[in-house]
Amino acid sequence: MKKVKVVIIGSGPAGYTAAIYAARANLEPVIFEGFFSGPAGGQLMSTTEVENFPGFPEGITGPELMENFRKQALRFNTTIHTDDVERVDLSSRPFKVYGKQASYTAEALIIATGATAKRLDIPGANDGEFWQRGVTACAVCDGAMPIFRDKYLYVIGGGDSAVEEASFLTKFGKKVFIVHRRDELRASKIMQKRAFENPKLDILWDSGITAIEGDSVVRSVTIKNLKTGQETKQDAGGVFFAIGHTPNTAFLGGQVELHDNGYIKVVPGTCKTSIPGVFAAGDVQDFVYRQAITAAGSGCMAALEAEHWLTIQGV
Ligand SMILES: Cc1cc2nc3c(=O)[nH]c(=O)nc-3n(C[C@H](O)[C@H](O)[C@H](O)COP(=O)(O)OP(=O)(O)OC[C@H]3O[C@@H](n4cnc5c(N)ncnc54)[C@H](O)[C@@H]3O)c2cc1C
Repeated sequence: MKKVKVVIIGSGPAGYTAAIYAARANLEPVIFEGFFSGPAGGQLMSTTEVENFPGFPEGITGPELMENFRKQALRFNTTIHTDDVERVDLSSRPFKVYGKQASYTAEALIIATGATAKRLDIPGANDGEFWQRGVTACAVCDGAMPIFRDKYLYVIGGGDSAVEEASFLTKFGKKVFIVHRRDELRASKIMQKRAFENPKLDILWDSGITAIEGDSVVRSVTIKNLKTGQETKQDAGGVFFAIGHTPNTAFLGGQVELHDNGYIKVVPGTCKTSIPGVFAAGDVQDFVYRQAITAAGSGCMAALEAEHWLTIQGV
């Protein structure tokens, strides 16, 4: 197994930023950018315009932004493997990282494998249909886009994030509907109160969306009342999944401490995990902000912390 100072797993904004910082600190990082685990470049590869990443006043597409991140990481001597990490052995140092094709031992490890937004298999919601043409999984990221302005918007979910995203969307849409399959929300009481008091927000109880239709963008949804079976077609400009995320931690095999919701636990205000020398950055440890800029920021923190830690270890 080849021996290196730092291995980074994951190639979203967090992983590539960690690579840029680690490479510029002469740590010669190796990054596993993923393949079957998701597209290299991470979640932004599935979006069109990114309008809130600072430095691009006119916006930039997600794939272009991530290509820039990748080029910048390569410029400073990063080794990139288009490969998935299948498992790691963190029981002793150096840590062992087993990819499908390449394996390494590493003195420090940065986990930046992100999280996957959950989606439902509704006709019309998939890639090649209306995904990213009115259907999305991130209201904070996409809600302000012109296609959603003054339209009827539908949020699927019933927890705190569904209510939060729906409340946020009322700033832009004509009316926002939370579509919930039960007759009560899972959201906290305070969030429920906020939803009930918002005149631009309605809740469709015992309901699901069974079809999304349109032309170049979403124009309508079919709502099914799950109790009566009755279906009605309604005007719509957008559908937002708010049914949670799955942090990508399966390959860790339980060796790093996780929160109950599956996200990696870090020492607050740092990227330090329960194992000294193992750092976590980006959405895999952040269930609050989940933005490209915060992921990139924590990628920087993880690399600086790894560098500091390696210096103390005399590596
Ligand atoms: C539809 C959509 C639109 C969005 N729009 C915006 C926006 O406009 N602005 C914004 O700021 N944020 C946006 N976000 C959120 C943003 O994409 C995320 O916050 C950000 O990408 C998180 O970065 P990350 O580096 O933590 O992980 P991710 O981007 O999730 O990347 C993780 C990477 O790790 C790889 N990986 C996973 N497991 C393994 C493994 N075992 N081995 C190797 N590699 C692995 C994956 O393939 C992936 O490449 C959007 C999200 C979605 C879903």
